[in-house]
Amino acid sequence: MELVVQKYGGSSVKDAERVMNVANRIVEEYRKGNNVVVAVSAQGDTTDDLIEKANEINPKASKREMDMLLSTGEQISIALLAMAIEKLGCPVVSLTGWQAGIRTKATYGNARIDKIDTERLHAELDKRNIVIVAGFQGINKYDDITTLGRGGSDTTAVALAAALNADVCEIYTDVDGVYTTDPRIVKNAKKLDDISYDEMLELASLGANVLHNRSVEMAKKYNVKLCVRSSLSKAEGTFVKEVEEVEKMLVRGVTRDNDVARIALCGLDDTPGKAFQIFSLLAKNNINVDIILQSIGNESSKDISFTVTKGNLEQALKLLKENNAVIGAKEVKSKSDVSKVSIVGAGMVNNPGVAALMFEALYDAHVNIHMIATSEIKVSVLIDEKDAERAVVAIHDKFKLGE
Ligand code: ASP
Ligand code: MG
Repeated sequence: MELVVQKYGGSSVKDAERVMNVANRIVEEYRKGNNVVVAVSAQGDTTDDLIEKANEINPKASKREMDMLLSTGEQISIALLAMAIEKLGCPVVSLTGWQAGIRTKATYGNARIDKIDTERLHAELDKRNIVIVAGFQGINKYDDITTLGRGGSDTTAVALAAALNADVCEIYTDVDGVYTTDPRIVKNAKKLDDISYDEMLELASLGANVLHNRSVEMAKKYNVKLCVRSSLSKAEGTFVKEVEEVEKMLVRGVTRDNDVARIALCGLDDTPGKAFQIFSLLAKNNINVDIILQSIGNESSKDISFTVTKGNLEQALKLLKENNAVIGAKEVKSKSDVSKVSIVGAGMVNNPGVAALMFEALYDAHVNIHMIATSEIKVSVLIDEKDAERAVVAIHDKFKLGE
């Protein structure tokens, strides 16, 4: 007997027909003799609709009350899914985050899972119940409901799999798996059979909308065997595993992230402490910075530029201007019609030609590069947003990822 954890996303349970489809798949797994624990998201666009409802009443609502509201989406899906399974004649129980023992940090809106008290889960499995758990939610030390951040149901599933020591964690969505790039942009994008945790983590953080990045972090940490597949077909999906076990390819995927903006501080004194002043100010205000570039400088001045998310741009500019008496930039510039395009692949470590090939593709496509950032397994460039799709196609072609 195996213990299988499955997660179904919002599109997989968006209406009665899809809920029945999912129920059938779960029952099929159960009737093989396996124990099945399922994490489920809110139906379709429910979470967005709930946010809209809140905004109609109070756009500045507290995060605590937002979590109280948003967590209801998943409570609807677990009940409906359990009813569907009852109809198919299998023993089933639905559990909210707190009933399932999911304890989180105190922070509302984007809480991290601390631990899972598995007593109730084990008791239900011992009774041979199918267990349906509300994704995206937990409970903090004040016994308040918290949510795990948008897309957080993936993390619920992986946390359940880790805590229960499951044999596999299957993430069901409306695509067949992880692709070399967004199939909506590039027609010949290819499904990958497997990918390493680190590559997946980069892809998830760089804007490939497949898995919540915290779920990948956790899968890597607890060595959870993870698989991404479609709830609408029987296709194999993509396995996420240790790097030694995956096919070695120079580059596995190309991503595009439009949620970036660039800020440049020009004419700074070329003295120690400037970077510290700027980035500690932003960090103190919880603003994440991504690519950072400092110019070599001329005479006694230098420029520092960096990227933030579009949502943080306004606040970052305000903070920098308010503190410019200390920082002392001659000019603060910003640009928000930019995109970050990246390539990811564990095979690029020790392969100096990879970045050059990416730049050649961009040159061939007449795309100008504003900034470059690299790590062992990724190269990112900041380019104009209008060039981004063309750039993705050109890079995907250059590395022959569609073949
Ligand atoms: N329902 C939540 C969201 O839409 C969580 C999830 O779908 O994973 O973000
Ligand atoms: Mg959702």
